[in-house]
Amino acid sequence: MHRFVFATFNRGKVREVAGILSGLDIEVLSPTDLGVTALAEETGETFLDNAVLKAAGVFVATGLSTFADDSGLEVAALDGAPGVNSARYAGGEGHDDAANIVKLLSALRGVPDRRARFVCTVACLLRPEDLPRGLPDPLPGAVRLVSGHPSTPAGAVLLTAQGEVAGRIIDTPRGTDGFGYDPIFWRDDLERTFAELTAAEKNGFSHRGHAFRALREALGLALAPVAEDRR
Ligand code: IMP
Repeated sequence: MHRFVFATFNRGKVREVAGILSGLDIEVLSPTDLGVTALAEETGETFLDNAVLKAAGVFVATGLSTFADDSGLEVAALDGAPGVNSARYAGGEGHDDAANIVKLLSALRGVPDRRARFVCTVACLLRPEDLPRGLPDPLPGAVRLVSGHPSTPAGAVLLTAQGEVAGRIIDTPRGTDGFGYDPIFWRDDLERTFAELTAAEKNGFSHRGHAFRALREALGLALAPVAEDRR
């Protein structure tokens, strides 16, 4: 079993991602399991920069392969805002979901163009020990090997995966599941908001689901030979 850390304190994300990665030859630990009580500040200008910053802090503190995601909502009529500031949009410390929704609905009052998308970038910092046979070649489509990113710790291999999902912002929040902007993110094809989906249904459509399924494919290919050696 390879030990990996998911660098997040967001229980909603952990629930979603644990389901996607189950069945791999990895044990997913939380920073708390390893005595890490804070993540790096999200000072980057892109989702990738913030994901690498968060993963790098935990990788250095624990010495274990670590993945992190950074995600947010991009609204077309607001030129992509709140974007990397999604968690802090209403100005709080972050993750004040109700205040963020109120601010977004007020910014969109009277605006007919309601198109929006959720975007998720995953950064996975791997120890060479967790890649005994190297990386799969070719890598699955949505996964990239990134060399030279300034926040990559020495000795780590950086893989990234990206996912996105399109929808529309509605005026009246609906549903109680999910988190963040889910109650106002509407899908015409489902005739529901993301907050009206079960976690499993949301995984099937969501930006995070797309990104982590791509990472799962890469890790599954990278780790499978090790499992075979053990038989
Ligand atoms: P992060 O934790 O830095 O990735 O910040 C993500 C922020 O974007 C969250 O606090 C939410 O406001 C928003 N967000 C990201 N993914 C989702 C989602 O799946 N549903 C609703 N809001 C999301």
